[in-house]
Amino acid sequence: MQRRSQQIELNPSNKQSTLMSKHAGYARVAYNFAVSSFKAGLDNDEWRTYVDIKREFNAVKYDKFQWCSELSQNASKNAIHNLGDAVTRWKKGQNSFPVYKKRSDRISYQADNGTGTVEVHKNRINLPKIGWVRMREALRYKGTISKVVVSKRNNRWFVSILIDCDISNFNYQPAVLDDKEPMGIDVGINTLATCSNGDTYANPRPLKRFERKLARANRALSRKIKGSQNWHKAKAILSGVHYRIACIREDAHHQASIRIIRKASAIGIETLNISGLLKNRKLAKALSDSAFSGFLTLLKYKADRRGIPITEADQFFASSKTCSSCGHKKADLTLSDRRYHCSECGLDIDRDLNAAINLCPV
Ligand SMILES: [Zn+2]
Repeated sequence: MQRRSQQIELNPSNKQSTLMSKHAGYARVAYNFAVSSFKAGLDNDEWRTYVDIKREFNAVKYDKFQWCSELSQNASKNAIHNLGDAVTRWKKGQNSFPVYKKRSDRISYQADNGTGTVEVHKNRINLPKIGWVRMREALRYKGTISKVVVSKRNNRWFVSILIDCDISNFNYQPAVLDDKEPMGIDVGINTLATCSNGDTYANPRPLKRFERKLARANRALSRKIKGSQNWHKAKAILSGVHYRIACIREDAHHQASIRIIRKASAIGIETLNISGLLKNRKLAKALSDSAFSGFLTLLKYKADRRGIPITEADQFFASSKTCSSCGHKKADLTLSDRRYHCSECGLDIDRDLNAAINLCPV
């Protein structure tokens, strides 16, 4: 049994969208109630568990928050559970003390009650008190639904579904290729990935394409009075542009990583010191645009699921400066040198390909 999660965009009606906002608001109110109750407990030298807080909340909710009677109580219940988890993590020193949630925070709520109340049928999901909501795609996994979180991001609604499933039913390698080979992969700014077999995957660099749109949306927002109707509208447009950029990037990463995985029997990559590279201001913008740490994470995760070994080269291994043919190390290679020319053996090769060959696991 394994857990899989899938996030699917929802296509709610206006009425459903309003109801989902109300539920998210209810979850926030319950969470904040729990934070203050827990704090009050601490002030009185009393350790309140989430069970205590839930009891306290249930006793007063219909008086204090009358509007909640039309909503699913799962939203508040799960929010208080979350506070309980946050307190546990805080006690273990894993995060700081839980803070109040603000109205402007990314809104979400957990819709299930842990016992499979949420039903999915093809492209629809049945959410408590909301009813059947259309989904943009069907659920990919079969199994028991163990958690359902509804959230709003960039003015779009999403549902994140956690499923307990038996993965032995899945075939993760639809195309079993005979010519699988060990592959070294060099990630870069100009080309997202260069493989040691010569394959290259282009980087869409969406930020560059959307730079003007982004600038215009940002300017429009800055001219509005903060918090006004028009400000909210401008903000929605801006977040729409950001969303488009993220989608294009993510799509390119998914496509490149799966194609590499299907051809590789073993994978070698570089250990990237991203935070170090980001200190280089010239590179920082281009780097965060190509966002290749996200790409490497995807690649690792997909390889891991299919049992393809993935090795990371030593952080100080000079994959770009070393000659892939004779092993000579060049001292004066700059970023603008697109080709690698070896003074020892005369090898003349594309710079990224040279690095990829060096990273290839033996
Ligand atoms: Zn050489």
